[in-house]
Amino acid sequence: MTASLPQQGQPWDAVRAQMTGMATGDVKWRDGKAAVYVFNAGEDIERVQKEAYAMFASENGLGPAAFPSLARMEREVLGFGLGLLHGPEGAAGAMTSGGTDSILMAVKAARDFARKERGLTGQLNIVLPRSAHPAFDKACAVMEIEVRRTPLKAFLADPEAIEAAVDEATMMIVGSAPCFPYGLIDPIEALGDLAGRRGLWLHVDACVGGYIAPFVRMNGGDVPPFDFAVPGVSSMSADLHKYGYCAKGASTVFFRSEALRAHMVFTVSDWPAGKMVTPTLAGTRPGGAIAAAWAVMTFLGVEGYRARHGQVTRAREQIEAGVRERGFTVIGAPQLGIVAFSHPDVDGLAILGKLYQRGWVTSAITEPRGLHLMLSPVHLTVADQYLADLDWATEAARGETGAGATVGYGR
Ligand SMILES: *Cc1c(COP(=O)(O)O)cnc(C)c1O
Repeated sequence: MTASLPQQGQPWDAVRAQMTGMATGDVKWRDGKAAVYVFNAGEDIERVQKEAYAMFASENGLGPAAFPSLARMEREVLGFGLGLLHGPEGAAGAMTSGGTDSILMAVKAARDFARKERGLTGQLNIVLPRSAHPAFDKACAVMEIEVRRTPLKAFLADPEAIEAAVDEATMMIVGSAPCFPYGLIDPIEALGDLAGRRGLWLHVDACVGGYIAPFVRMNGGDVPPFDFAVPGVSSMSADLHKYGYCAKGASTVFFRSEALRAHMVFTVSDWPAGKMVTPTLAGTRPGGAIAAAWAVMTFLGVEGYRARHGQVTRAREQIEAGVRERGFTVIGAPQLGIVAFSHPDVDGLAILGKLYQRGWVTSAITEPRGLHLMLSPVHLTVADQYLADLDWATEAARGETGAGATVGYGR
């Protein structure tokens, strides 16, 4: 793995040209060929992200006293988020580097709450539906918490199964709004009832839904209660770098009260450089990610988000109708930007492989084996092209079995 750093540096023009060259093999996401990893809301948003990021690329969110600008932008971003997610008076949160980070911090806060406020000792556990994100497994692996996954019912979290798995050592239950695999919103109200009855911490993972669902509802979409409007919800994660259309490295984690948030913050008082207080996992926090989030949100406003998310909804409806016509079954009744579907005769993972040959980088589901799209506004312009390629891919894949699906490293 070692390589020698060039003895002589190179001019920026030459460096940039090399980078452009390296990117030629990347998925053509600007042309709408990616329905995973990238959210493409248009060139104007990309420009705001980049210029705002660049303005604060060297600044550090670790030092709010040095950078009151970033402190203010973070405070306002959190305020926007809490406003959209029905945060009650006194609700609080933090910006983090991403959904995994937000979930880790929510689990840490709930763990410390369980230890300090509920007096729980010994091995703790979290109960969550099979469809919840692997970031919970990571958080639990780091903190040595037991993970209890419960079966789904009609592709949704089953509150009865969750309740059956809960015991005295349960420090958190989880619902997703929506879950990544199927894009469906779990029955958060029922989970909230359960949390209230049993005195449990309910985390709603709205990483991929938190910044689209409120606007889909404003647009007239049928979005069930999923946020702090549900009384039993203690904490939420919502990613700005997904449907918030912000630059990568930006997410939010929220708590119903400042008292709950206080369990997230980590303080070391006895250190030769003084006292160190960090609200999230990070020490240094990229000013660019905070600034770009503030800028994109302020640039778009409610109307901007409603318009772009309206395009996502139309793209999803068009693709849903198209795949149904072609004999696919859509999983559940998706309301937001993710749609998953399977074919009765042709292996979804084999179709995925064929689509990849035509430049489409999308994901899969394995239960059942099918296709998965996480749509952006750009997809409204390529929905017909996708469906045409899907026709070809379905025929080409007939009789074949695709390789296993992998998200992230491994493909
Ligand atoms: C994307 C996602 C996460 C993790 O977020 P990252 O930003 O990728 O770390 C967690 N939960 C859900 C439902 C997600 O879609």
